[in-house]
Amino acid sequence: MPVKVAIVGSGPSGFYTAAALMERSDDVEIDFIERLPTPFGLIRGGVAPDHQTTKKVSRAYEKTALSGPVRFWGNVEIGRDLSLDELRAMYDAVVLAIGSPRDRPLGVPGDDRQGVYGSADFVGWYNGHPDFTDLAPDLNTNNVVVVGNGNVAIDIARVLVKTDAEMADTDIADHAAKAIRAAPLTDVWMIGRRGPVEAKFTNVELREMGKLEEASAIVDPAQLPVTVEGNMSDRDKRLKERNLTTLREFTAQDAAGKPKRVHFAFYTRPVEVLGGARVEGLHCERTKVDAAGRSVGTGAFFDIPCGLLVAAIGYRSDPIDGVPFDMAGGIVVHRDGRIAPGLYAVGWIKRGPSGVIGSNKPDGNQAAAQVLEDSPRGARPGRAALEKLLVVRGVKWVDYPAWQRIDAAEMAAARPGAPRRKFVRVANMLALGQTGAE
Ligand SMILES: Cc1cc2nc3c(=O)[nH]c(=O)nc-3n(C[C@H](O)[C@H](O)[C@H](O)COP(=O)(O)OP(=O)(O)OC[C@H]3O[C@@H](n4cnc5c(N)ncnc54)[C@H](O)[C@@H]3O)c2cc1C
Repeated sequence: MPVKVAIVGSGPSGFYTAAALMERSDDVEIDFIERLPTPFGLIRGGVAPDHQTTKKVSRAYEKTALSGPVRFWGNVEIGRDLSLDELRAMYDAVVLAIGSPRDRPLGVPGDDRQGVYGSADFVGWYNGHPDFTDLAPDLNTNNVVVVGNGNVAIDIARVLVKTDAEMADTDIADHAAKAIRAAPLTDVWMIGRRGPVEAKFTNVELREMGKLEEASAIVDPAQLPVTVEGNMSDRDKRLKERNLTTLREFTAQDAAGKPKRVHFAFYTRPVEVLGGARVEGLHCERTKVDAAGRSVGTGAFFDIPCGLLVAAIGYRSDPIDGVPFDMAGGIVVHRDGRIAPGLYAVGWIKRGPSGVIGSNKPDGNQAAAQVLEDSPRGARPGRAALEKLLVVRGVKWVDYPAWQRIDAAEMAAARPGAPRRKFVRVANMLALGQTGAE
């Protein structure tokens, strides 16, 4: 009897787990339980719409999804359609691969004013994630502040200032493309508490900011150190030096010819979001980095006017019923991925929101090895029991062929040159792809 494994969540960590299980055993049955009708997690809903090459990793996931032992149960949410305890009772092993979908709050006075968003919501909005279709951010402003000095902050700044022509071959959601096109945006301020050496951007993403059609990258040369100092590996030092070189090149570019600017504002700490009901600016303190690498205030304050503020300062997960949770870390409590007998964690719900897509692969390998080591062989009913329960509850699910119909319809509806036009409402996806209980 095959070992019955349910993987909750169909992002990278879930797919790497399924692939690793099949590499290790011919006797597994794997069911993906995914709350959206669409697979691939943040590859579809997080990775920037103008980074289509990165999204191609989903082709490898598709091969896994189409393998004999694997089934996809989309539009089925643990906590809404069935509980985790119910799932655990049906499967020999359950692997949580549900990511970190919530924003860490900015945590300064005024961060609840209208026009202040977290990056999960804002990125979800422009990427057509159905949870954020109705976000409707008001972009009727010249100035935007993006808090954060990582690749997500860069993605947001870049998507906001790229021209229609630069976005033509992307799958940005129609509503977002329209709103950004109509917006009078001229200046995006990317602020970070620490300096260019501490910033987390990778060089490929940073360099893109120097090649934008209508926007210049603005860097204050006084904020660039001459050399990279600090306790770090040679590799890290090389990467930081590369970023410094790129930032220096930005200082040499002529900003006058372009109508938009992206300002790299280092050594800047948000103190308070200013305004009335809506955000009108950000009150900031100039910082410096102390010997221990911490950002400390200098007592010099200044304001940046803005009508939209996006905080890209990290993610957390919600606690899950029946699972021990580390509230401070925003992840499940586990030991090398093991949470409880027959229950495992992989990806961002296990490690927190860090690393690149490939960083989730070792988690999948580890969980697969643990599942096969721990599982009582085929003791539970698995998918037959799941299907029965979903039918009894009247839950409509989306299987992989149904997702392929959604996928094909999206590609067929694409503008010339674009990869797809995304459905942004679950009801529209279900109208095309719904299967299951009648
Ligand atoms: C904005 C952004 C841009 C990024 N860009 C890049 C990039 O360009 N390159 C790169 O290498 N990395 C990038 N990353 C990082 C990369 O996306 C992550 O490393 C990876 O997606 C984490 O995988 P995961 O499987 O843990 O979580 P996720 O990808 O978040 O997948 C979790 C899945 O679980 C589902 N789920 C959640 N709760 C439930 C539930 N209760 N029941 C059923 N299903 C559920 C979700 O719908 C989702 O499909 C980016 C991340 C973000 C946030």
